[in-house]
Amino acid sequence: MNPAPTRSIAIIGAGITGLTAAFRLHQRGFAVQVFEQAAYPGGSIRTIREAGYLIEGGPNTLMLGAAEAKQLIRDAGLEPTLQVANTAAKKRFIVRDGRFMPVPMGPGSFFTTKLFSARTKAAIFGELLARRRQRSEDVSLATLVAEHFTPELVDYALNPLIAGIYAGDPAQLSVRHAFPTLLEAERSHGSLLRGLIAGAKARKARGETRAQLVSFPDGLQALPNALAAKLPAEAVHYGAVVEAVIPGPPHRLVWTRYGQTSEAAFDDVILALPAGALAQLVIGTARERPLAVLNDVLQPPVSSLFLGYRREQVGHPLDGFGGLVPAIERRSVLGILFSSTLFPGRAPEGHVGLTVFAGGMRQPELARLDTDALLAQIARDLHDLVGVSTPPLFVRHSYWPRAIPQYTLGYERFLGAIERLEQEVPGLHVGGNVRDGISLQDCIKAGERLARSVAGK
Ligand SMILES: Cc1cc2nc3c(=O)[nH]c(=O)nc-3n(C[C@H](O)[C@H](O)[C@H](O)COP(=O)(O)OP(=O)(O)OC[C@H]3O[C@@H](n4cnc5c(N)ncnc54)[C@H](O)[C@@H]3O)c2cc1C
Repeated sequence: MNPAPTRSIAIIGAGITGLTAAFRLHQRGFAVQVFEQAAYPGGSIRTIREAGYLIEGGPNTLMLGAAEAKQLIRDAGLEPTLQVANTAAKKRFIVRDGRFMPVPMGPGSFFTTKLFSARTKAAIFGELLARRRQRSEDVSLATLVAEHFTPELVDYALNPLIAGIYAGDPAQLSVRHAFPTLLEAERSHGSLLRGLIAGAKARKARGETRAQLVSFPDGLQALPNALAAKLPAEAVHYGAVVEAVIPGPPHRLVWTRYGQTSEAAFDDVILALPAGALAQLVIGTARERPLAVLNDVLQPPVSSLFLGYRREQVGHPLDGFGGLVPAIERRSVLGILFSSTLFPGRAPEGHVGLTVFAGGMRQPELARLDTDALLAQIARDLHDLVGVSTPPLFVRHSYWPRAIPQYTLGYERFLGAIERLEQEVPGLHVGGNVRDGISLQDCIKAGERLARSVAGK
């Protein structure tokens, strides 16, 4: 049965979460209106073409495994253009003793690698025998990994990995909220490794292919652009800052656009906003901010610097995905992506592009430096890690004052505030990286979930 065509839905935020929800609801016949404060779709996704380079100011890769994400790309008409990361980019590096060392990818390189000591290698084998365990308390990711392996594995594997995913600190992240599959692995198998191996086998048995790192020839921005283009033109309001939702039914939405305040009524409202915007939003008639607690979500700043060089300016072969830096190595950069190796066509002929990340939980003050100061700050790292001693020919600096929400210990208090609000205001739905996971794939699933909760199935 088709839904009544008159049911109207407001979607606030045209990031990947909001656009996925809007696209699915439009397909099902709902009257959707999207409100986005920026002048373009995508939110954190921001691809720029300049001087022959293709630059990702925000996310660089989509880890594509989930059926929802594959289906969305198909339905957006982008499947034929999907770019899978170059196989040359399989190799990854981690800094140890001041230089990039390859991460072992198989048993042979695992035995010979100097990245980990014999004690850590033995602990990895020993962990396969760990006993099942049911925890009543949440723990930090660093504690869990140290208990199962060694502090060295926390320092030289977990710490850089978390810097790469969250720009975060594993000592502060909650296993329950950030990596629940690890708790489940411990509960059902005892060994995290056995649990992860069993999970991979089960996915294979279900016919799921291995997740692949993907993008598009026009960068990740192609996806939000395609989704927005499939909505009626008059349904997307750019430059519209939503200020209040006055609960109904119907719910009244108040927004300002070019200095003018407007209002309209909707049957359902989807809030696909970051933590800070949710905290600011008035929801009620007496200027209440029921999600003000979300101001306490840790969301450190990150700077992403895209640097273009002539190939011969860079000493490193750039034969991989890039490298991550453990905090214990005391460097300024969190990691460096070899962007022009990762996907073809990202730099002009004879040139290469690197993307350098700085800041995060580790050194937030570095993210806030201006471009020249940041370039001076990272010069030694570029020299030591990738053999660069001359200035880049091209620089594009993207600054994210509140980059990625950190799912820290005690994060349930934030989720609780969101759940209470949804119970108090039927027809209000909240989702996105503050609640559903931080990866693009998680946000696509969040958009699908929001669409289902509106449609009632
Ligand atoms: C630097 C960086 C690198 C990343 N790298 C990766 C990566 O490689 N792979 C990966 O999977 N993930 C990565 N992520 C995470 C991922 O990009 C985000 O979690 C995801 O894009 C969030 O999508 P969203 O739609 O939930 O929120 P957002 O993208 O934040 O969208 C929310 C939208 O709401 C709008 N908005 C805010 N307030 C209002 C208001 N009052 N009225 C109207 N509109 C408003 C904003 O302008 C924005 O467009 C990265 C994130 C950052 C910042």
